[in-house]
Amino acid sequence: MKIAMKTPLVEMDGDEMTRILWKEIKEILIEPYVDLKTEYYDLGLVNRDKTDDEVTKESALATKKYGVAVKCATITPNLQRMKEYKLKKLWKSPNGTIRRILDGTVFRAPILCEGIRSYVPGWKQPIVLARHAYGDVYSAVDEEIGAGEKVYLVREDAAGKVIKKTLVHDFASSGGVAQGMHNSDDSIASFAHSCFRYALDCKLPVIFATKDTISKQYDGRFKQIFAEVYKQYEKAFEENGMWYLYTLIDDAVARVVRSEGGLLWACKNYDGDVMSDMVATAYGSLGMMSSVLVSPDGKYEYEAAHGTVTRHYYKHLKGEETSTNSVATIFAWTGALAKRGEIDGIPALCSFARRLENACVKTIEEGKMTGDLIPLFSREGIVPEKLSSTGFLRAVAAWLERG
Ligand code: NAP
Ligand code: MG
Repeated sequence: MKIAMKTPLVEMDGDEMTRILWKEIKEILIEPYVDLKTEYYDLGLVNRDKTDDEVTKESALATKKYGVAVKCATITPNLQRMKEYKLKKLWKSPNGTIRRILDGTVFRAPILCEGIRSYVPGWKQPIVLARHAYGDVYSAVDEEIGAGEKVYLVREDAAGKVIKKTLVHDFASSGGVAQGMHNSDDSIASFAHSCFRYALDCKLPVIFATKDTISKQYDGRFKQIFAEVYKQYEKAFEENGMWYLYTLIDDAVARVVRSEGGLLWACKNYDGDVMSDMVATAYGSLGMMSSVLVSPDGKYEYEAAHGTVTRHYYKHLKGEETSTNSVATIFAWTGALAKRGEIDGIPALCSFARRLENACVKTIEEGKMTGDLIPLFSREGIVPEKLSSTGFLRAVAAWLERG
């Protein structure tokens, strides 16, 4: 008998190769076991253009309503895509739109398998990386400054009266560059809540770091807000044997590299941009990196960290066989199903999700995988076998049937 659901999942379909995988994942790995209930939104570029991108907003609002969504990778159009799809407009990134509506933080976590070794051999457990995706240099103003000019930081009150004018630099002898950036208490507090909440979900300790010895006011404020927000979580952390450490960013890098993993690393915007690529690369393939957007009020949107794998899609269109890794997209589905099961009190849904995750990992560990993993795999006595996109899904299904 299939597992029944109560509340629908918000299903956000997407583009190119991942759209092809999406349909097959549902048909081969989910629908035979779960009486799947979803509210479907087609975020494929064709439909976003047709609906003037309203469908993206509607899907985000549905996530606010139901609490759990699963999203396929989507194209963020550029000029070339605009021509290719004859778009009315250069629509904004769907992920950006959804993030603005949910006000969430993105957490990325690698999926680990025996035989796929990290480039940092000590990392035995996942490092979950959280990036504060608001403000700092990403919404800064910067200008070139001529020799002989001065740059000030000027504050005005609501009526426009100058409160304070501070000299940034006197460019008397040489021109140069200057930049003004900001962040807001609300956004920092939301970020802190999302991090502590998600850490509790995964039972992981938290490291947060800035450079407050140098940036005393700016980074000092981040440190202070995190400390205040943590007070609300401290008891739950202690009860679960978890800890929160605030330190300097250089010390954090050293601690993370020396660690065995198994922690949540909260990063300011720029640090998160740089470190998420470093962590993802160190763990191997983009096809093994999952991602979840968590809002401060506890709404969840699960997806793969990679894009629509365009190069493979064009092969597929030419009728050639592809070997595209579907694991991160499968984990987006299992993450969403398990969260739905947890909220609605359906333990069978949670255990199915864990069983499907385990089937993916075991299939790879037994040597059956997509092409991207072959050069990374080494396990004594096992010669890895390269499967097609669909071949891998069938191998996982076979494992599910056996297990
Ligand atoms: P990508 O789709 O992640 O692919 C980059 C390359 O990484 C691929 O060509 C492939 O390498 C490898 N790769 C990524 N995922 C893989 C998988 N599951 N299995 C096997 N190999 C995988 O990034 P992109 O080419 O920069 O972007 C393509 C489109 O995706 C763009 O239109 C972009 O806007 C969109 N995008 C969407 C999201 C999202 O929705 N969250 C995120 C990023 C990008 P080889 O070609 O060497 O095999
Ligand atoms: Mg980056």
